[in-house]
Amino acid sequence: MLGLMQDQPLLISNLIDFAERHHADVEIVSRRVEGDIHRYTYKDAAQRSRQVAHALDAMALEFSDRVATLAWNGYRHFELYYGVSGSGRVLHTINPRLHPDQVAWIANHAEDQVLCFDMSFLPLVQAVHSQCKTIRQFVALCDADKLPADSGIPGLITYEAWIAPHPKTYRWPTFDENSASSMCYTSGTTGHPKAALYSHRSTTLHAYAAALPDVMSLSAGDSVLPVVPMFHVNAWGIPYSASLTGAKLVFPGPALDGKSIYELIEAEQVTYAAGVPTVWQMLLTHMKPAGLHFSSLKRTVIGGSACPPAMITAFNDDYGVEVLHAWGMTEMSPLGTLCSLKNKHQGLPAAEKMKIRLKQGRAIFGVDMKIVDEHGAELPWDGKTYGDLLVKGPWIVKDYYKGEGAAPLVDGWFPTGDVATIDADGYMQITDRSKDVIKSGGEWISSIDIENIAVAHPAVAMAACIGVAHPKWDERPIIAVVKKPGAEVSREELLRFYEGKTAKWQIPDDVVFVDAIPIGATGKMLKTRLREVLKDYELPA
Ligand code: AMP
Repeated sequence: MLGLMQDQPLLISNLIDFAERHHADVEIVSRRVEGDIHRYTYKDAAQRSRQVAHALDAMALEFSDRVATLAWNGYRHFELYYGVSGSGRVLHTINPRLHPDQVAWIANHAEDQVLCFDMSFLPLVQAVHSQCKTIRQFVALCDADKLPADSGIPGLITYEAWIAPHPKTYRWPTFDENSASSMCYTSGTTGHPKAALYSHRSTTLHAYAAALPDVMSLSAGDSVLPVVPMFHVNAWGIPYSASLTGAKLVFPGPALDGKSIYELIEAEQVTYAAGVPTVWQMLLTHMKPAGLHFSSLKRTVIGGSACPPAMITAFNDDYGVEVLHAWGMTEMSPLGTLCSLKNKHQGLPAAEKMKIRLKQGRAIFGVDMKIVDEHGAELPWDGKTYGDLLVKGPWIVKDYYKGEGAAPLVDGWFPTGDVATIDADGYMQITDRSKDVIKSGGEWISSIDIENIAVAHPAVAMAACIGVAHPKWDERPIIAVVKKPGAEVSREELLRFYEGKTAKWQIPDDVVFVDAIPIGATGKMLKTRLREVLKDYELPA
């Protein structure tokens, strides 16, 4: 017997319709590439996203055709999120930090028909447009009078001129909720990038889950600042969850430096922000010497890389901001776990609470996870045993676009490539990417633990731990360190700093001071590149 509930597909257009109907006057504020602040409402955004849908219809784009963006977080990008997916096309957000050859490769692989780009990326588009064989229309995300006369890009049109002739009314089509809605290529370091292809159903379910109290806890009472880019895994789904809840949206545009972010938080009374540790590091570095404080910020989600304890402490103790550590990946839309305390933890001493907060957190309903050994046997949830982390759920990939790469599922589970422990309360903690694990004398050393200790030292700006070959122990850890400007610390001092903070055998064998640690297109440390840089390094005798 089937249930007797209405059979309505979960479509992305429903989210913007809802926001328009129930939160029409709620503001969406954007810092633009031009530097000024733009403000309008969900009602305006909904109307203009329908104009986008018309513009695509006018080009006779087919259902599921790909429309690409190279854009910062801003209102026009938000309109494309809805206009493209809502009208049945697939939004392809391209990471502008990728190498131009990779951008062209991705655009061809996705067979993009339209490319909408912010003017910051004009040089990039000028460099690659002739290689992008399938793109029929280039659209500059700027005002109608800002188009450069000699861009060299055939048929280039401004976004405003592109949508202006079209009506603000449109009937969103209804179709199978499993239809593709958007796509994002992974930042894989080997071989060609592979694309996760999200659906209307997966995106809507993820938007619901992301808004839950123990996840992002988003509500109409919030003013939310997604610093995490809309070009990488849909800004962790915030553009969708914000419409679902009616939260005020604040987009930072290209200005991600500490000063600009701080000013935006204060001016727009942001209550809630989300970003990767490197961005928050820039914010804290700006605030501390100037003695600044937040007047509205209450919570921040930090993920994408391990959040160092020093950052959690600074936000919490110095600024009264709760840090929610999150873990996920492109293949997971991206949210997998989020770290919030349970009721039984509330009375714990601060140090005990901190130990929990450092973990990547508990699975969100909709994500099932397990850790396994090298034979695929499931490992215990004791908080100590390490294993390969596998996940499954309705917003996790079952395959890559065009079947690229190895068939990803193992008995229905997606292997994340992360190594983790899970404790009896279900809190997962990442120790490493599987390819970064350091094996010393048959025991594993977590490079994240070693890095966290180093960055807690006041003179250290950034640290990356890698394993180097050792005749007796197979591998030993060393730590590459970037010092804060003007700060000093010696090798010996830093090694002494480890004493009492970790087991003796886990203390790195050496410290290598470097000017910079290579960072990839999504803001993560590129340990493969660091290993190349240090390939001639030899451990001290
Ligand atoms: P991406 O697909 O580019 O978002 O990268 C996903 C990968 O980033 C994960 O598989 C993890 O290795 C890493 N990652 C994401 N969040 C965290 C976190 N909170 N702590 C440690 N690693 C993380």
